[in-house]
Amino acid sequence: MTDLPTSFADREALADYLRQAFADFAEGDAPPATLPGGRRAAEPLLEAVDPPLYARTRNHLDGAVTRLSPYLRHGIVTLAEVRDRALATSGERAAKLVNELGWRDYYQRAHAKLGQRVWEDQEPSKTGLDAADYASDLPPEVERGETSLACIDAFARDLARTGYLHNHARMYVAAYVVHWRRVRWQAGAAWFLRHLLDGDPASNNLSWQWVASTFSHKPYIFNRANLERATDGRYCRDCPSARDCPFAGSYEELAARLFPELERVA
Ligand SMILES: Cc1cc2nc3c(=O)[nH]c(=O)nc-3n(C[C@H](O)[C@H](O)[C@H](O)COP(=O)(O)OP(=O)(O)OC[C@H]3O[C@@H](n4cnc5c(N)ncnc54)[C@H](O)[C@@H]3O)c2cc1C
Repeated sequence: MTDLPTSFADREALADYLRQAFADFAEGDAPPATLPGGRRAAEPLLEAVDPPLYARTRNHLDGAVTRLSPYLRHGIVTLAEVRDRALATSGERAAKLVNELGWRDYYQRAHAKLGQRVWEDQEPSKTGLDAADYASDLPPEVERGETSLACIDAFARDLARTGYLHNHARMYVAAYVVHWRRVRWQAGAAWFLRHLLDGDPASNNLSWQWVASTFSHKPYIFNRANLERATDGRYCRDCPSARDCPFAGSYEELAARLFPELERVA
């Protein structure tokens, strides 16, 4: 086996090479992502990390998140390096960022123990539903970004186009797939792994399980108010489903609708 070439005249030449060399691996056209790889591309992101601003704004989709995940995933930057820089610049005010870095470390360790079992439910779900209540396959309109829910469609398209989603967009999409569409988390996790540049079965599968409640004590759901806050309402303004939004309502109302079995037990 010879080494893969690493130097190309331009990005189109790289795209052509990848299309031919990996024709059996991707269905349809699979253009290379626009994000540049390598240490030189990661350095400015590292320099820009602002831990106090991160702590204040990370839950907003335009917040000062680091976007370091693809570089961490592929070993171009290490968790320890990000942590040490954050502590050097911000001391205790780096706590939130260090905490989030810890999640990646935790999931890696869990994966090292579980291996392929990250694809299996770690615990029974806490939704009151059985595995048989969930569809095995992702509905094609979800993957294509054609559900008529402006937020979910935009996230699905961003995922395919950029290979990246903000943590909250990942949580919203995962909750929609598992709880609103009642699809097995494995189908959603596999979809994400096909596109995410930071995709790895540790953080990805265990996060999907956290949303699904097979790796947490309760299912994660969100409501429209929460999504509007995190996005300044940009998706809801022109959403064709705005008047009939499945995410509208209080958490209690949504939980009663999504998990009727739990209501019956309560
Ligand atoms: C359904 C779902 C699937 C996910 N799939 C992946 C995946 O395949 N690969 C992946 O690296 N992360 C995954 N995450 C975790 C998280 O969304 C991403 O790490 C984060 O959004 C990456 O963007 P960032 O580098 O700007 O993060 P920042 O918020 O800037 O965080 C800095 C770094 O801390 C780590 N981190 C932050 N939040 C988390 C978290 N909740 N869990 C684990 N690590 C975290 C990441 O390494 C991240 O690069 C997933 C989360 C969910 C809800």
